[in-house]
Amino acid sequence: MYPTQYLYISGQFLGGEGRKTQDIYNPATDEKIGTLPHARPADLDAALEAAQAAFESWRWSSPMDRSAVLRRVGALIRERCDAIATALTLDQGKPLREARAEVLSCAEHAEWHAEECRRIYGRVIPARRDNVHQTVVRQPVGVCAAFTPWNFPLSQAIRKTSAALGAGCTMILKGPEDSPSAVLALAQIFHDAGLPPGCLNIVWGVPSEVSEHLIRSPIVRKISFTGSVPVGKQLAAMAGRYMKRMTMELGGHSPVLVFDDADIDRAATQLALYKSRNAGQVCVAPSRFYVQEKACDRFVKKFAEVYSNQQIGEGLAAGTTMGPLAHGRRVESMGQFVADALARGGKVVCGGEKLPRAGHFFPPTVVTGLPDDSLLMTEEPFGPVAPIVSFSTREEGVRRANNLPFGLASYVFTESLSNATYASDRIEAGMVNVNHFGIALAETPFGGVKDSGLGHEGGQETFDGYLVTKFISSMSSPY
Ligand code: NAD
Repeated sequence: MYPTQYLYISGQFLGGEGRKTQDIYNPATDEKIGTLPHARPADLDAALEAAQAAFESWRWSSPMDRSAVLRRVGALIRERCDAIATALTLDQGKPLREARAEVLSCAEHAEWHAEECRRIYGRVIPARRDNVHQTVVRQPVGVCAAFTPWNFPLSQAIRKTSAALGAGCTMILKGPEDSPSAVLALAQIFHDAGLPPGCLNIVWGVPSEVSEHLIRSPIVRKISFTGSVPVGKQLAAMAGRYMKRMTMELGGHSPVLVFDDADIDRAATQLALYKSRNAGQVCVAPSRFYVQEKACDRFVKKFAEVYSNQQIGEGLAAGTTMGPLAHGRRVESMGQFVADALARGGKVVCGGEKLPRAGHFFPPTVVTGLPDDSLLMTEEPFGPVAPIVSFSTREEGVRRANNLPFGLASYVFTESLSNATYASDRIEAGMVNVNHFGIALAETPFGGVKDSGLGHEGGQETFDGYLVTKFISSMSSPY
C-alpha cells in the first residue's frame, strides 16, 4: 500500500542504487513501511545544474503555459486524492479524513496560483521627457531551494512549488524524510502535468548537509523554509552570508484570548476540536489559552470534556479523530512540557502521560495554574498539550499575549466589537482570527512577524518572494 520513494532530478525518478537509504516508519505502529534514498553530493550538483538549465527557458515561458501546468496539477491532485491521503496517513499519522482535507486544499492552492500567475503586473512611471519611457517589471528571482516539514507534507510543498513555478522560477525541494510520500506524489503530478524536466527537483538526505550544500551554491538565489525558529534562524544566517533572498515560515506560540462576554461553551468546544487537529502539530494551533477570570472555570471544564473525548487510534481506522504524533521526538517533548508544568505548580486536568501502546500516542492534555514563565507558556508545545490560565482586563490579556518573541497566529473570542477591535489591532501576530478559524486559505496571506518569520505564502502576496523588481528607463530619438 505504501509507494516506493525516489529522488526526482531533471525529470528522472532515481532509486536507492549506490546511495545511502533511510527507513520510513508508520508512527501509529512503529513498523517500517519503506525506505528513502539520500542524495549524494553529486546528486545535489546534478539537481542544481538541472534547475539552472531549466530556468533559462522556464523564466521566459508564457504565464498562460505556467497557468495551464498548475491547473493540470490541481486536477491531478483531486484525481489522486485517496491514494495520496492514504500514504500520508501511513507515514505521518494524521486521521485519513484530515489527510484528505489537506490534499484537497492543495488542489485549491495549485488552482489559485494558476489564476494569479497571469496577474504578475509591473507599472509605468510617467517620465520627465516625452521620448523617455520608464517601466517597472517583475522578473523571477532564479533557482530556489526549499525545505519543508513533516506536519503538513503536501500543503507545505504545494505552497512553495506553485508560487515559485508560477512566478517563472525553478526549484530544488528537500522534503521531510520522516513523512516523504506526499512530496514525491506531488513530483509525479508535476511530471505528469507536463512540467519540463529540471523545473522541479526533489532531494532527501541529512537536512543540515543538504541545506548547506544548496544554500552555498551560487546557482541558488532564494531560500524558502518552513519549520522551527532555531533552524530558520540558522538557515537565514547562512542565506544572509551569501546575500540570498528568503521566505521563512517559522513556529509561533499562538495566544487565545477568550473574553467573558463570549459564547463560552461554543468557544471551548470549537477550540478543543481545532487544537486536536493533527494532534496539535500545527504551527498555527491555538497553544496558550488566556480566559477572562469570570469565565475560566467553565471554559476549562467544557474544553477538557471535548478535548479528552477524542477517539485516539491509527489514522486509517474508522472513527479515529486523533492519530499518533509524527515521531518519537514529539512524545518525549510532551513529557518534558508536562514535567516542567508539574514542577512549576501546574495542575493536570486530563491526559498527561504517554499512552501505554505501540506507536507515538500522547493523549489530549490540559494544564492549568501555570506561571507565564513556565516552559509550556513560553515554548510552542507542537502537540496535544493545552495550558489554560486566566486574565483580568483586556489590557492585561493583550500584554500577556504579546510577551513572547513569536507572532504567527492568534485567536480572540468575544461578542463585544470593542474587545474584538481592541485586541485584533494590538496583538502582535501575522494573523488574527476572531470567533472562528479562518486562516491558511489559498486566497489569503499566511505569514508571521517577529521571530515567526519573513514573507508570505498565499494571497496576492504569494509571488512577492519569488520576484525581483527591475526598473527600465528607455529613450527613443527625439520626436
Ligand atoms: P527540527 O527543528 O529538527 O526540524 C524542523 C524541520 O526542519 C524538519 O522538517 C527538519 O527536517 C528541518 N530541518 C532541521 N534542520 C534543518 C537544516 N539544518 N536544514 C534544513 N532543514 C532542516 O525539529 P523537529 O523535531 O522535526 O520538529 C520540532 C519542532 O519543529 C516543533 O517544535 C515545531 O516548532 C517546529 N516545526 C514547525 C513547523 C511549522 O510548520 N512551522 C513544522 C514542523 C516542525
